[in-house]
Amino acid sequence: MKILVINAGSSSLKYQLIDMDTEDVLAKGLCERIGIDGHLKHTPLCGGKPVFNEDVAMPTHSEAIAAVIEKLTSPEYGVVASMSEIDAVGHRVVHGGEKFACSVKIDDDVMAALEECIPFAPLHNPANITGINACRKVMGDDVPMVAVFDTAFHQTMPGKAYMYAIPYEYYENDGIRRYGFHGTSHRYVSARCAELMGKPIEDLKIISCHMGNGSSIAAIDGGKCVDTSMGFTPLVGLPMGTRCGDLDSGVLQFIMNKYGLNIDEMLNILNKKSGVLGVSGVSSDFRDLDAAASEGNDRAQLALDMFHYWVAKVAGSYVAAMNGVDAIIFTAGVGENSKSSRAAIAEYFGYLGVKIDEEANSKRGEDIMISTPDSKVKVFVIPTNEELVIARDTKEICC
Ligand code: ADP
Repeated sequence: MKILVINAGSSSLKYQLIDMDTEDVLAKGLCERIGIDGHLKHTPLCGGKPVFNEDVAMPTHSEAIAAVIEKLTSPEYGVVASMSEIDAVGHRVVHGGEKFACSVKIDDDVMAALEECIPFAPLHNPANITGINACRKVMGDDVPMVAVFDTAFHQTMPGKAYMYAIPYEYYENDGIRRYGFHGTSHRYVSARCAELMGKPIEDLKIISCHMGNGSSIAAIDGGKCVDTSMGFTPLVGLPMGTRCGDLDSGVLQFIMNKYGLNIDEMLNILNKKSGVLGVSGVSSDFRDLDAAASEGNDRAQLALDMFHYWVAKVAGSYVAAMNGVDAIIFTAGVGENSKSSRAAIAEYFGYLGVKIDEEANSKRGEDIMISTPDSKVKVFVIPTNEELVIARDTKEICC
């Protein structure tokens, strides 16, 4: 059986077609500049077919989905003979609020509930909904579709972890609480970690560090998330590529008053001009920061030091929250690729008896244990695979 995985943004749409018998990716691609002009990069990964990388008119997401289906089924670039070979579609949805603690089959009631979640993710959820509607329009109602939520995995957090210490009515009336994001990634790598350790996940305390452009950490006790660093929005927790992470809200009042900014302008600074970019003045990309720091740029080094310190500090608080830890996982762009960041963070974990194997830490692109055999806490690099989780959930729910 073959499942199409869709991740729709406001002007972009990523996709993968996965053969669930082998879990091989048959083709993947990216539509960009939807609503502006339109560009499609379609990469077949089987059958020796060529890459398609050209402008395609995409006034709306419907044309984007139609172009994707056309390429997936075309004699020249295709990997299936017709649309009927696509058995189901899995959609990434950013915010499921408190309604969705697991993935669900999409129907009209679910669509209505997704609309209700829009205020929680005003930029992301409308784009996800547009992607689902476009897919239903182009593929018809007979193809089953599933929504997989970034927030769902974190719904097991206890009240003491998800509540904010503000008047209770904001939670009761408005749903203001910590939700957390990157849940699909944390779920995938923690399950994989248990497999690699050869132990039931129910018996493990795991800290999962998803370190990419956006970064978050999750504390996973017995397979259930008990705390995570992102909150009501993905702005908080660690300093990120361009997001500020945790910040005293009094700073907003000070800057807004002094420079006459409104809240949208302030949040734009905190979302897009802060993080390691804001501190370094160099880049949001950790490769650029590493290069600048090695050439003696003190602010690039400070940004890196702050990031490593925050990962260690938050992870350390989760050791306390879980009363122990068996394994620490690094994943996503920085976690999978930057051996220097992993080593710098692991240095803080000496008190846990963590020892890093330098040779293992130098490898790339595979699931690997980078701690030494005598390390008290095991440390892993596990490349994340959110698309595979979406496809597996879709298969389980639809078939
Ligand atoms: P996103 O949050 O957008 O999904 P990714 O998980 O793809 O992000 O991570 C992207 C980030 O990974 C880049 O901004 C870059 O900082 C980092 N990265 C990628 N390769 C390397 C590398 N070799 N060394 C250090 N950082 C890297």
